[in-house]
Amino acid sequence: MTQSGTYETIVVGGGPAGSTAAALLAEKGRKVLLLEKSRFPRYHIGESLIPFCYFTLKRLGLIEKLDKSGFTVDKYSVQFVSTNGKLSQPFYFDEHLDHPCSHTWQVWRQDFDRMLLANAREKGAEVREGWQVKEVLEEGGRTVGVRAVDEAGVEHEFRAPMTIDATGRDALSVARRGWRVRDPYLNKIAVWTYYKGASRPPGKDGGATIVAFVPERGWFWWIPLAHDTVSVGVVAEKDYLFRETRDLAQVFAQEVKQNRWIEEHLAAGTPSGEFRTTGEFSYRSKYCAADGLLLAGDAFAFLDPVFSSGVFLALKGGEMAADAVDAALSAGDVSAARFAAYSEAYCHGLESMRQLVYAFYDVNFHFRDLFTKYPETRGALTDCLIGDLHRDYKPLFDKVREFASVPAPLAHGRPLIGAEGSACASPS
Ligand SMILES: Cc1cc2nc3c(=O)[nH]c(=O)nc-3n(C[C@H](O)[C@H](O)[C@H](O)COP(=O)(O)OP(=O)(O)OC[C@H]3O[C@@H](n4cnc5c(N)ncnc54)[C@H](O)[C@@H]3O)c2cc1C
Repeated sequence: MTQSGTYETIVVGGGPAGSTAAALLAEKGRKVLLLEKSRFPRYHIGESLIPFCYFTLKRLGLIEKLDKSGFTVDKYSVQFVSTNGKLSQPFYFDEHLDHPCSHTWQVWRQDFDRMLLANAREKGAEVREGWQVKEVLEEGGRTVGVRAVDEAGVEHEFRAPMTIDATGRDALSVARRGWRVRDPYLNKIAVWTYYKGASRPPGKDGGATIVAFVPERGWFWWIPLAHDTVSVGVVAEKDYLFRETRDLAQVFAQEVKQNRWIEEHLAAGTPSGEFRTTGEFSYRSKYCAADGLLLAGDAFAFLDPVFSSGVFLALKGGEMAADAVDAALSAGDVSAARFAAYSEAYCHGLESMRQLVYAFYDVNFHFRDLFTKYPETRGALTDCLIGDLHRDYKPLFDKVREFASVPAPLAHGRPLIGAEGSACASPS
């Protein structure tokens, strides 16, 4: 084992959450090490952004770069396809909000994530790709760094007063500490692939995300990407999807027949990638922080992707983590209690989206019923869908509750106040 250095913060994972946190901390002059187990570009699912991603991307200085990148498709709207194959009118973001954020993007994640990671490096973070963190080190109940393995298999130890776990759905801390709490109802899985040359709606609507329903069972995403490719996947309960076979290509083919619009639009194209699946859809960690440790992005919580909120939550989570960690380091106090406001804000945002996701899956709920009785809810609901999550949506969800079963907020996801509230000074 080599002692390989001391930093102010170690970030584990170079996805949107980790890269954002590392870039912003480095920009503040902090000595940051980011360890990423893969070499970029690496494949990742989750290609559709929502309008409020704009604000973190703007703070990172990446809007112009993204616009010129060549790996995006402009996304101006979302559309729904009913079970009988009928396409709804587009819902254009700019009809709701006159702001540059109303134009968002569909992105190839290997390119988008590589851009974010390069940005962290350019801002001054030390980024090491091909380094896998094996263990988060603790002393006296406090996180003091990590043990990582380089590509040659050599072990190294790095130390810092703060570690940010941004390991995505691998969720290193959550897995090691047994903190994963599954959402009681959102227990779906996804099966997906890519098609080249599929037909797209014409003009501006060609970049829309399309959510197409499978009768009473689930839904398809249709995400048009650059290079004439569409990301297309089906989400439903595992027992339903695997009822006849576990062969992913066959599962996909059998569901395509359930929605005429998807079937017709894929007919012109050809599959251009392997078929993939993922399970354990929605969870939240029991804790978001411990002394010297903070969780961000999917490493903290994962929510069913129906409203494409994951990258937004990772970018925003990375941003909030950077600000909270910087303040903690300045105060010389990296105790878990220090991250109560972070947890409050994060969980509030998650809960706003989670209530919408529950309403979506309630077979008795139809947005039109809500809007007919309470036309004034349309604006608030749209705000929530575009990612303006850090507002008070109680009046909205009190009304939604008349039509749909909407969950109470989860009680977990707070900081683990170690040794019940002990303050913990960071070593200088
Ligand atoms: C089926 C599906 C569809 C989705 N669709 C969308 C969508 O359309 N829009 C959207 O916004 N979101 C979507 N998401 C969610 C989105 O993919 C995630 O929310 C987002 O990638 C989270 O970013 P992150 O930075 O937290 O984690 P990640 O992007 O997963 O990054 C984590 C990084 O940590 C690295 N890592 C892991 N363990 C270690 C370790 N031990 N040491 C070092 N490095 C490590 C990984 O290699 C990875 O690069 C979807 C998710 C799924 C499963």
